[in-house]
Amino acid sequence: MTSSSDVPARLAAVRETMHAEFTREHADPWIVAYSGGKDSTLLLQLAWEIAAAVPTDAPRRPIYVVSNDTLVESPLVIRHLRRSLEVIREAVRDTGLPVTIKVTEPCIDQTFWVNVIGRGYIPPTRNFRWCTDRMKIAPTNDLIHKLVLAHERAVLLVGTRKSESQNRGRAMTERGVTATTMNPHSTIPNCRMFAPLADLLDDDVWKILMQRKPPWGGSHRDLITLYRNAGGGECPLVLSKEDAPSCGTTSPRFGCWTCTVVQKDRSMRGLIDAGHEEEDKLEALAAFREWLIELREDNRNRLPVRRDGFSKLREDGTRVFGPFTFEIREAILDRLRTLEEHLGRPLIQPAEIEVIDDIWRRDRIRENGRLALLAAIGVKPETVSA
Ligand code: SF4
Repeated sequence: MTSSSDVPARLAAVRETMHAEFTREHADPWIVAYSGGKDSTLLLQLAWEIAAAVPTDAPRRPIYVVSNDTLVESPLVIRHLRRSLEVIREAVRDTGLPVTIKVTEPCIDQTFWVNVIGRGYIPPTRNFRWCTDRMKIAPTNDLIHKLVLAHERAVLLVGTRKSESQNRGRAMTERGVTATTMNPHSTIPNCRMFAPLADLLDDDVWKILMQRKPPWGGSHRDLITLYRNAGGGECPLVLSKEDAPSCGTTSPRFGCWTCTVVQKDRSMRGLIDAGHEEEDKLEALAAFREWLIELREDNRNRLPVRRDGFSKLREDGTRVFGPFTFEIREAILDRLRTLEEHLGRPLIQPAEIEVIDDIWRRDRIRENGRLALLAAIGVKPETVSA
């Protein structure tokens, strides 16, 4: 049975484990997965304190702080992440610590809008969650892969804890993850995973953060307010498919403002209900997200064939519908543009529009060619199956 009075002892154990790892006689860099949430903030804080305590004339291992921006992050969360990274960047300049900050983004061909508006993918569902891999795992793993290649080996520090949820605890136990062990990364050779916070409780993390200012300056006040108002957990930096269940689940997490995997976005709703100063703008984003769900649930908005041009029936004879029709894709873009005007800031990048135009042009040529061919041979388009 753990008690709150054990917090100093549990923190001391974490620090000791991290210190022992950092002062080993090798030069493998630390890659700290930082989402701006409470767990990764504590992780980075401890990593920073340990690195800062190493004498300046001793060899110091490089530290990479790696964050991910899906380009559709909840606005308050991404603002907090960007601000905190800016403060950290300044502190790096002032202290000369060997810390490098990297922020990954999805490849422009694989963003949320390119897939939904361009390719007509239905907004993600629990069973068709195409987003996590494209927007989070692939860009971040690409970067980690490059860092490992550049340094030959690396240690990836993650802020995951067993008490985050029952699923998380079970998954960590099954994979043999403990606070003191190194586990091989599931897809990146020569990359070892280190989860030193594994045994800390939610309350431990808050207590430690409230008692200790960030070593890069400022305070944790914004972070605490954000959580208090959103009333929830966090959508961590997702690094593997095993981590993915925590992204877009029904628990009240920060994630993409467009996330349609959850029926109710409880973190956004929490911020609105807390009377946030930008309540009107958050309300508009929430309404857009709910509209995306409505569009997805109505089969009349979808083509009767899949993107490969073939139709598919389930075993019970019902049709598997394809992507959104061109009209719906255009309607989403139009309403997104209107939303941008209302918010006074861009939600989609010019480069994404270029990719979408290109996909539309190619899709239309292909679809017109297919329909002309089927008309010529007298076959109904929706009857052609693979
Ligand atoms: S938060 Fe939702 S939309 Fe964003 S990557 Fe996760 S599951 Fe996908």
